[in-house]
Amino acid sequence: MLEHRTEISESETLVIKKDAMTTIEISCVEVWREVSNYLEADISPELRERMEAHFKVCVHCSAVLDGMRNIVGLVADGRLFQTPPGFHKRLYSKIRLRP
Ligand SMILES: [Zn+2]
Repeated sequence: MLEHRTEISESETLVIKKDAMTTIEISCVEVWREVSNYLEADISPELRERMEAHFKVCVHCSAVLDGMRNIVGLVADGRLFQTPPGFHKRLYSKIRLRP
């Protein structure tokens, strides 16, 4: 499910990254760190606003959000109580940003 979402052209990635970095004062790393809190509404309104703005311009973080939302949905259903071992590592390796 995540695989096809992250398949975008190199040039498109660079454009999105540039926009995100110049217009939004939050980095992808910060977003990834806070995304579970974001889904649990456990962050300040200011941070939430910044993250929402970031998700609109950053395809990588949108993919992370989708992935996390699926996991949270499963947890809420009582079907899964924790992310599988290595989940974050695999997820992040797929969306790793290049310098
Ligand atoms: Zn991002």
